Order: sequence, then structure tokens, then C-alpha cells
Amino acid sequence: MPFLWSTVAGDGQLYGNRDKGSEGDVTNRYHFSYPGYSEILTGIADDERLVSNDKLLNPNRTILEWLNGMPAYKGKVEAFGSWDVFPYIVNEERAGVPVNAGFEAYEGDTKRVAILNELQEQVPSPWDTVRLDAFTMGYAREALKREKLNFVYIALGETDDFAHDGHYDQYAMAAHRSDKAIADLWAWLQLDPRYAGRTSLIITTDHGRGSESLETWKHHGRFPYTKEDGTTAVSEFAGDGEIWMAFLGPDTPARGEVAGETVTLNQVAPTAAALMGLTFEDSHEVLAHGEVIEAAVRK
Ligand SMILES: [Zn+2]
Repeated sequence: MPFLWSTVAGDGQLYGNRDKGSEGDVTNRYHFSYPGYSEILTGIADDERLVSNDKLLNPNRTILEWLNGMPAYKGKVEAFGSWDVFPYIVNEERAGVPVNAGFEAYEGDTKRVAILNELQEQVPSPWDTVRLDAFTMGYAREALKREKLNFVYIALGETDDFAHDGHYDQYAMAAHRSDKAIADLWAWLQLDPRYAGRTSLIITTDHGRGSESLETWKHHGRFPYTKEDGTTAVSEFAGDGEIWMAFLGPDTPARGEVAGETVTLNQVAPTAAALMGLTFEDSHEVLAHGEVIEAAVRK
């Protein structure tokens, strides 16, 4: 991941190297995708209601919905995901935020969008519910080109699915491709006067997958299951709640790889808001969202 270890580690901030005492963790109980993505986007871990990866409309408001509710940002927020559950996680209809995910064609009148739409139908994905990331990133790039957007969420999926399939080579190559795709996006943003010098990039992951053994690296998540003797147990993959996150942009002081500072996934949305000069407000009546990572936001 050369972009992460050169540009981000040089000009931005990188959290999550446990060997350096920088722990990154999810705060949700489940360590799988829906609860993780919701924690990223809403700032809270709703362990009572978000208990599966089912297509359940998120009862909680994401940062996208919150921003889209403000006159200054209305219509300037968009989301792109490789996994077809994102319209539910974002609660697209209620939020009024366009979410292009799964195998949806994108509405756009550029030649490139037309080619991507055509290829998306012709190129087989290895998975039923997740498309290849080139389409997700390709559509997001076209959206950013078409009009000035204020907040874009892009969720890539290949690393997780290749890992579940047990293809370590493809897993590693997908991580390398994701890094390159983000590098290309960043380079392009610096060339466009609408974004250059005023855009922040936050990169993170919805869960970890541990590194305990050759078998368990493939999977993650706390799921109840029935054992051979008929009793129930909960799956355990040591380390699957460990995550990392990175910040890059004009409002983030260059600190490189951070040591000795712990972060949690529920801090991403409040920190994203802080980078926009805003104070995040979640919609949950009881649970509190994470705190802003103050060191990632220039005073
Ligand atoms: Zn997974």
C-alpha cells in the first residue's frame, strides 16, 4: 500500500499500529459489516437494533443524512458502495442521499458512465451481493467530476470478500488496488480547483479479521451458532474488532504514523464533521457518539 505509507504517512495521520501502542477498535459488539459501517457513519454502536447484515433500514441517522438536512449541503452528498446493503445502511430514501451500490447502474450522461454501466452488466463479479470496486470508484469519480460535491462516501468491498473466499493472493492484490485507486482519486482532487487544497480524505475499515491462524484470518464477526452437541456458542475470531484509520488533508496536521494514541470507529463521523468545521449530532436518544479525534483536526 505505497500511497498509505508514503503520502498519508508523510503528510497525514495514521492510527492503529498496535505495536506502537496505537490501538484502533470498533465499539460495536458484532465485528461484522452492517454494525461496523453504521458505526462509521452514525458515530454510535447500536447493539440492540443492528444485529445482522440483513437489509434493514437504519433507524439511526448517518452523517450523510445529517449533512443533507442542512441547506448548505443539500443535494451535495452522495454515497457509493460495492455491497448492495448500503442503500439500507444509509437509509437512502429517508436521507434523500443518492446511494449507488451493489449492481445498480449509475445515472449520468458521460461517456465514461455509459461504458461503466455496460461493463458492469458484462463483467461477472465473483459474488452475488458485492460488485468489483472499479465500478464503485469509477462512478464516484464521475460524480465528483460532474458537480462539486461536499461529502462523498465510497465503500470498497473486494478485500473482505476475497478474504472470506480464502484467496490470500487476491486479498493482498485487492488491498494494493484499493490503495492505488485512492491514490489516483487524491491526485485528481489536487488537480481540480473545486477540490484542491480544501478536501480531506478519511480512510478506515468496518472491522478487522485478526491474524491468529491461517484458518481464522479469512473470517470475522460474532455470530451465534449451534455446536455439534446441540448447544449454542458465539463465533470468535481473535482480533476481528481491530481497525485502523487514516486522515489526509489541509486541516489535518502531518503527524505520520501515530504512536500511543487509541482511536475507536465511532469517532470517524464526529471527526469528519469537525474537519468541515461542524459539530456532529447523532439521532439516538440514549447512546452517545464518539468524540472528535482532536489531534486530527488543525485548530
Ligand atoms: Zn466480511
